[in-house]
Amino acid sequence: MSGIWILRIGHRPERDKRVTTHVALAARALGAKGIYVDSPDSKLEDNIRSVTERFGGDFFIETGSPWRQRLNQFPGKVVHLTMYGSRVDDALEKVSPDDDLMIVVGAEKVPAEVYQRADINVSVGNQPHSEIAALAIFLDRLTGGEALYSERHGKLEVIPTERGKRVVDLSRCD
Ligand code: SAM
Repeated sequence: MSGIWILRIGHRPERDKRVTTHVALAARALGAKGIYVDSPDSKLEDNIRSVTERFGGDFFIETGSPWRQRLNQFPGKVVHLTMYGSRVDDALEKVSPDDDLMIVVGAEKVPAEVYQRADINVSVGNQPHSEIAALAIFLDRLTGGEALYSERHGKLEVIPTERGKRVVDLSRCD
């Protein structure tokens, strides 16, 4: 898979702060390169940058990013997650490993223009649920979960273990 970016449309800083934070964290953990959020939100940016600073990788966040411009300037395929879209398994057959993808997730009602601009409107089941769940399932299916335990070279590294918590704090190893 080439590059994966996320575009979050309709973010309302007061109402959606937790959900958009979790959209960004799920995107980072599951292998996206970064997230564009349409409304300005400096607190959201600080939170996500702080996680990346501690846990590693080069995930980026840009808020106040005009969604129409992002979509129109994107040279790869635009995938819009919506419960009205085609079945996820059918949609994935139209994506090749060389494709750069911009994956759009909504908050409130998504403008019709997004459905038209999208190369693929994809559903993750035909029931309404959550942008976090839809994004996580889609990314996992798309990448086969390859980013889940990838090396991020962070200051903190969590060592998977059956019981307890194992965390290596590399900032204390100087
Ligand atoms: N009411 C809004 C509308 O009509 O567009 C959608 C609200 S929903 C909580 C927010 C976002 O979750 C949607 O824009 C979509 O990206 C995602 N979503 C929810 N259910 C989905 C599903 N079954 N498949 C794919 N995406 C879904």
